[in-house]
Amino acid sequence: MTQAEGAPFSVAIIGAGIGGLALAIGLLKKNVPCTVYESASKFDAVGAGIGLGPNALRAIELMDPKFRAMYDEVKVGNKSPDRVHEQIEILGIQEGFGITDDWHGGSVSHPAFERSSAHRKALLEIMESLIPPGTVQFNKRVIRLEQKSPQKVTIVFQDGEVVQSDIVVGCDGIKGMSRKVVLESRYPEEVPAKYNNTYIYRGITSMEEAKKRIGTYAEDARWWMGKGKGWAMYPISKGTEVNIVAFIHDPDEWVGEQATKEVTREEMFSDFAEFDHRLKALLDFVKPVRWPLFHHPNTPTYYKGRICLMGDSAHASSPAQAAGAGQGLEDALILSRLLGLVRRTNEVESAIQVYDAIRRPRAQAVVQESRDVGMAYFFLHPDFGDDLKKITADANVRLPKIWFYDLDRDLKLAEDSFNALVRYPACKDDVVTVSIAETTTSVPSRIAT
Ligand SMILES: Cc1cc2nc3c(=O)[nH]c(=O)nc-3n(C[C@H](O)[C@H](O)[C@H](O)COP(=O)(O)OP(=O)(O)OC[C@H]3O[C@@H](n4cnc5c(N)ncnc54)[C@H](O)[C@@H]3O)c2cc1C
Repeated sequence: MTQAEGAPFSVAIIGAGIGGLALAIGLLKKNVPCTVYESASKFDAVGAGIGLGPNALRAIELMDPKFRAMYDEVKVGNKSPDRVHEQIEILGIQEGFGITDDWHGGSVSHPAFERSSAHRKALLEIMESLIPPGTVQFNKRVIRLEQKSPQKVTIVFQDGEVVQSDIVVGCDGIKGMSRKVVLESRYPEEVPAKYNNTYIYRGITSMEEAKKRIGTYAEDARWWMGKGKGWAMYPISKGTEVNIVAFIHDPDEWVGEQATKEVTREEMFSDFAEFDHRLKALLDFVKPVRWPLFHHPNTPTYYKGRICLMGDSAHASSPAQAAGAGQGLEDALILSRLLGLVRRTNEVESAIQVYDAIRRPRAQAVVQESRDVGMAYFFLHPDFGDDLKKITADANVRLPKIWFYDLDRDLKLAEDSFNALVRYPACKDDVVTVSIAETTTSVPSRIAT
């Protein structure tokens, strides 16, 4: 496709993670030319699993039905037929998993929810296959972004190259440089990610080894909970492997860089002293590396001029709801559709403005809720304490709001808002707040009325 056949402008995407690649897939489907600049030398998925809820699956289906079909080929759910609609079973970390204390497990589930997870590598391979070769340029670390003229952004790379683009989307992750460019002059306190008072350990093992240590508990997604501690585990890789994430609450500040910290195996074991022996046995497959969880609970805007934020650079979230990447996929759907509507370069700003109005309230609410749910899962939520029934009931109210969000309605709202802004530029500053599902957002008043 040449540029002339598609949009009259091109998009530069910084970062080839889930967010950046999804945006490229969505844009290419709408004939909007784009280039993805990635600092790494190749695609590199962290060795871990990822769960996608119905909202994320709907987003990828709307972006490209082939994307959804390919994901369906690699996904895996729970093995037990009676747990197909369950996100997690909640158990206790203590010896006996709480069953001897009369707790027989809580179910976070919904009849319309279908559990689905995959290995991140499998997801990235699918996304890579949907993007023409050459679209992603590796070894391209962006070190500076400047918008000197109203219509062009200058991108400066570490290797000395300088290119111009009509719009830049920072999909460069939680520590990405684009966040600083967008926020520093107006909201400097919101540039750095905030510590979520949690560190995790991660591991993957074969289903066979996991079952030797914990039996059929390994076959379905579960979250074992205790005071300030937790252990989440679920099948990936078509059920041949198991993904483990163990959570430790840390009331202190994270000392030093926002980076992983190696510890001895003894230090790691000391974090799990009160756990059931079957979970402790699985520590054989967990790396003695503490991974601090940071997030972006407040992001007052997702753009400055023609530079905008998407995915974790905009709204990195703690993983208690397994919803962070899903929000990046929703962003990619809305932004790609909006940019697909642009017919003259001076309409780009309207697309960005509508993207911000529609996506920011929803994504930021998910970040805030994930923090809250994380505290509940640590028995630290003031409303629930260690009452597993209340914790389960609360999760069963919150999660469906994420899973069954009406993306089709957001797409319609995005299109209508964009058309109104382009037709009536005077209403650009004239925004009102309307209710969208469980969140609120601002759209041009001519649409809201
Ligand atoms: C433990 C854990 C479990 C999770 N589980 C789930 C889950 O089950 N479901 C879910 O939906 N979400 C989950 N998440 C969240 C999810 O992992 C993230 O939301 C998602 O991976 C973010 O993708 P991204 O593309 O925005 O950022 P990233 O994956 O961080 O990608 C950013 C990319 O930008 C590149 N880059 C950075 N700086 C530059 C630069 N200057 N120049 C060029 N390139 C650059 C990086 O190399 C990288 O490739 C989890 C998160 C954690 C921590």
